[in-house]
Amino acid sequence: MLFYLTCWTEDDGIYSCGHEHLTIGEALECLVPDGKSFIRARDNGRLRSLNEAEFGVFLLEVGKGILKGKG
Ligand SMILES: [Zn+2]
Repeated sequence: MLFYLTCWTEDDGIYSCGHEHLTIGEALECLVPDGKSFIRARDNGRLRSLNEAEFGVFLLEVGKGILKGKG
């Protein structure tokens, strides 16, 4: 299974939203645009960075959010 979750860094480590978002767009709803948050993929139980294709989707979704006036 492949899920996406939003992570962010605090002084004492990395936290995640703890959800199992099915899409990057969903995970973005948990993302606070403060520069400390990022999205990771959980691929068969293992956390990994977004691959190139997923990062493209991420940028597209971020762009949509800006156009909607969310960001
Ligand atoms: Zn979440």
